[in-house]
Amino acid sequence: MEKGSLLTLPVLPLRGTLVYPSVIVHLDVGRKPSIEALDMAMLEDRRIMLVTQKETAIKDPKEEDLFSFGTVGYVKQMLKLPNGTFRVLIEGLKRAQVLNYTATEPYYLAEIEVEDDQNIEQDLKADAFVRSILDQFKRYVDLSPKLSKEVYESTVDIEDLGQLTDVVASHLPIRLPTKQMLLEILAVDERAKTLIQVLTDELEVLRLEKQIGQQVKKTIEQSQKEYYLREQMKVIQSELGDKDGKRKEVSDLEEKIETSDMTDRIKEVAMKELQRYERIPQTSAESGIIRNYLDWLIQLPWQTTTTDQLDVTKTARILDQDHYGLETVKERILEYIAVQALTHDLKGPILCLVGPPGVGKTSLAKSVARAMNREFVRLSLGGVKDESEVRGHRRTYIGAMPGRIIQSMKKAGTVNPVMLLDEIDKMSSDYKGDPSSAMLEVLDPEQNYQFSDHFVEEPYDLSQVLFIATANQGQLIPRPLLDRMEVIQLPGYTEIEKQFIAKNYLVPKQLKQHGLTKANLTIRKDGLLELIRRYTREAGVRQLERKIASLCRKAAKVIVENPDEKIMITKTRLEDYLGKPLYRYGQMETEDPIGTATGLAYTAFGGDILSIEVSVVPGKGKLQLTGKLGDVMKESAQAAISYIRSRQAMLGINENFYQTNDIHIHVPEGATPKDGPSAGITMVTALVSALTNKRIRREVGMTGEVTLRGRVLPIGGLKEKTMSAHRSGLTTIIMPKDNEKDLDDIPESIKKDLTFIPVSHMDEVLTHAFVEGD
Ligand code: ADP
Repeated sequence: MEKGSLLTLPVLPLRGTLVYPSVIVHLDVGRKPSIEALDMAMLEDRRIMLVTQKETAIKDPKEEDLFSFGTVGYVKQMLKLPNGTFRVLIEGLKRAQVLNYTATEPYYLAEIEVEDDQNIEQDLKADAFVRSILDQFKRYVDLSPKLSKEVYESTVDIEDLGQLTDVVASHLPIRLPTKQMLLEILAVDERAKTLIQVLTDELEVLRLEKQIGQQVKKTIEQSQKEYYLREQMKVIQSELGDKDGKRKEVSDLEEKIETSDMTDRIKEVAMKELQRYERIPQTSAESGIIRNYLDWLIQLPWQTTTTDQLDVTKTARILDQDHYGLETVKERILEYIAVQALTHDLKGPILCLVGPPGVGKTSLAKSVARAMNREFVRLSLGGVKDESEVRGHRRTYIGAMPGRIIQSMKKAGTVNPVMLLDEIDKMSSDYKGDPSSAMLEVLDPEQNYQFSDHFVEEPYDLSQVLFIATANQGQLIPRPLLDRMEVIQLPGYTEIEKQFIAKNYLVPKQLKQHGLTKANLTIRKDGLLELIRRYTREAGVRQLERKIASLCRKAAKVIVENPDEKIMITKTRLEDYLGKPLYRYGQMETEDPIGTATGLAYTAFGGDILSIEVSVVPGKGKLQLTGKLGDVMKESAQAAISYIRSRQAMLGINENFYQTNDIHIHVPEGATPKDGPSAGITMVTALVSALTNKRIRREVGMTGEVTLRGRVLPIGGLKEKTMSAHRSGLTTIIMPKDNEKDLDDIPESIKKDLTFIPVSHMDEVLTHAFVEGD
């Protein structure tokens, strides 16, 4: 390509960029005419005329929109991109000028004149220019964040001044007109001078930029610093504040410890803990643990007592005020207090009140506390099966707490409360240790003055506590505990006693609790009796009290709406208030049954009746037992069959009855499970009846254990059983002769309605149980 040579080349208009000679660039080409121009160039000798649009924004430039000065480029590569545009690699060859366009469709075709650099003598002046440009450019690259060192390094070897100016100019981020201007200067020295000027200007701009940047950065840094400092200050302030808060907390605690009830020893311990508390950071887990511990030490009573009132007459009055009957219990309590008054020593055995629910065990203990002027706390041991429930957890455990004894002491607030250990028979043990051994320590006067709780750690004195235990069933109390206790039985109440208790205690109490007076609500005698007989079935009076409470609630509702209303509850009106009766009373079987005998049972809820049903069908000698039978009852069934086999001739039963029949024994569940050997005679009676078709007298209830040879052995709970028989309307009771002495305990009011038949052998039972003549 000679200077001045005329060529006709396709034209590629450029937007926002230009290509200097000696420079290789990537261009993305998308405009259709441009692509066609490129295609054309590729078909020819790959040369194309590159001219820049004067306005970048124009989409379809006309001839006058294009600079006439441009560069002849050589298309080194053309790559189709997925989006349909082309990426071309073009090397700038020579400056050139469009003379005229020979075609505009489908692309511009122009006649151009190729230009050459002028004044290209490589003299000293040129060297000076080169050095100066490189020098400036280096400084520029050093300052510019956009150009890397490599860019500079790629220029240092260029000796040709013209080429150097083009390469350097191509790297500078200068505006397009300046670039175009540099392109259009053909005289190399002139171009170099202009470039140096441009470089100097650009350097200045860069320097200013940097300066501004630094200032901006400075201000930003400054504000960041301030923010940071302020944040730190906040932390410091809050730390200082917390310190003040903590100091206050510590001094509060100190005062609390000083004024607390602690003994000197415990105070010392507490102060030591407090010092530790002050030292460690509030946020640590340890801190919470110590705080919790200190709170416990502060709140526990250590020395405070109430002054005992040991006045036997007054106590007797209070016990009578609160409870009807229960003479033996009251008597025993009074004795206890009398001994106390004389000896001031609690080392006697612990009273254990045993009886079904609702017979007044809890309320007796409360009365004792009231009479003695002591605090009262109730601690339920039902379901306690883990030693740590009694003794607490070591305080290193998260959420550790003292055991129930210490918790109760905190509730009591004094060191000499009356503590009711409720349901001591319901404690059980598991792999985590036996709670009853811990209870043993609690109850042992030799040890309990320094009871050890895992949480409290310091020995705690329980020696002034008056313990009273309760149990539903005495035989379930762990033996070692039982040895420490004096058991007092509360057997349950007769119907007449219940009436009396309701009238004189429960009704007035409930009226008061519901804000009612006698004038608002009266329960007539027949109403009360119906309530006892057909709305409750219990040995105690708990359900009865609840029913009375529920009557009071209903009445209160009526009274609120109508204050003048006077409510009278009679037998017939009861149903309006409480719904249908829940139990049958005195409605025995209407016929004398075959194969069904009525036994008397003794459960945790007092006495109860149970019926044993037997059916015999031809079969292969299968014995089937259904219903809620305990193991003891299952054995009784086997024993009963053995007994019958030994007596079959006398009883008139087929020799092979147990081989030719299937025998089915069923014990209907009832409300509470029953078990025990005392169903023995009942079982035999039902079996014999079923096998011989003899009718059993429906008014007979029976209880007694039977041996394989038919001897009837004594049983427990005769009083309770008798009372439940009476409740159920039975009139004759067959019982072991050996239990005759127990008849003295049974209230006259009940005895007079019943016929007792003491027996010592099974034969006697059968004689009395069957309907005469059968
Ligand atoms: P327990 O502890 O035996 O289950 P409670 O002491 O809770 O029974 O007694 C239940 C309710 O019956 C209490 O309100 C109690 O005052 C009352 N009560 C029980 N026996 C008598 C009684 N002999 N005289 C008066 N009220 C009684």
